[in-house]
Amino acid sequence: MNLSRYPRRRYTPYQTPIEELPRLSAALGGPAIYVKRDDLLGLAGGGNKTRKLEFLIADALERGADTVVTCGAVQSNHCRLTVAAAAKEGLHCQLVLEQRVPNSYDRHAGGNNFLFELLGVEDVHVVDGGSDVAAAVQRVADELTSKGRKPYIIPGGGSNETGALGYVACAQEILQQSFELAVSFDGIVLTSGSTGTHAGTLTGIVGNNARIPVVGIGINRKKEPQTDAVLDLTQKLFGKLGIETPLARKDVIVFDDYIGEGYSRPTEGMIEAVKLVARTEAILLDPVYTGKAMAGMIDLIKKGYFAGAKNLLFLHTGGSPALYVYTDKFFA
Ligand SMILES: *Cc1c(COP(=O)(O)O)cnc(C)c1O
Repeated sequence: MNLSRYPRRRYTPYQTPIEELPRLSAALGGPAIYVKRDDLLGLAGGGNKTRKLEFLIADALERGADTVVTCGAVQSNHCRLTVAAAAKEGLHCQLVLEQRVPNSYDRHAGGNNFLFELLGVEDVHVVDGGSDVAAAVQRVADELTSKGRKPYIIPGGGSNETGALGYVACAQEILQQSFELAVSFDGIVLTSGSTGTHAGTLTGIVGNNARIPVVGIGINRKKEPQTDAVLDLTQKLFGKLGIETPLARKDVIVFDDYIGEGYSRPTEGMIEAVKLVARTEAILLDPVYTGKAMAGMIDLIKKGYFAGAKNLLFLHTGGSPALYVYTDKFFA
């Protein structure tokens, strides 16, 4: 695959490390666990949206945009990193924030919310949970256009065919590092949210004929609609990149058993997983995505789902700034 034909900005001047987690592996009595440290990507605070924004912002610049408009939850890592990328490029950024938990927006809240302001967000538009967020984003963009500005819309989570290229690139990086480390992975476990990470990684793995199972742990939607959404974006990426390998629905692996009461709502498994990884490996997961994904991986190891696997790779997609708005949930 030749990703160099797509415009790209670079926000991380290195490959993120793959580290072995021997104390976590020992605590679980399972296979050797490795982590891909995408929490160490560039832009303020790191995390997976940085890889997507490399392609999205390059596209925005190529189209002559002066403002990016995107959306997310009130503690969105994606929104934080979009404001950060805009700051770095001298672009304006406006956000549409969805209150998925009623009345959850507070301009003076900590975590990512604080960082939106610190990084210089131009305007924040708050809408109720379940409203038509895409339409609200379009209204903001239309308003900007009517004032002579040039807006560029980035979809939620940066998960379209352009943004997901960042995770096709990540899959290629993982395969290269796996070769250099002389460690062959029997599974890659990641968080499956707005799908760009899952679909991009799966595309990069299948497109390189690597056939490593990519296991997505859902944090929001039920298994069937999540599988449909991942499959849809993966098929689009196959078309864009000219990958002819057949893709079956069963190649899209999604678990929805670790969501708990809903998106961003803490679960006991999440809290235990975040504590365990902090105390064995000094790595900070996050409460909304990677904490639940790690809870899922731990449970699947215990249930024998990975029986026969020697080496598992957990993709750490970042998000630790959100930990600081969940402190009261951790120590009763
Ligand atoms: C957005 C996000 C995810 C999910 O990635 P998608 O590409 O939206 O599926 C996982 N982890 C963190 C920390 C995120 O911010």
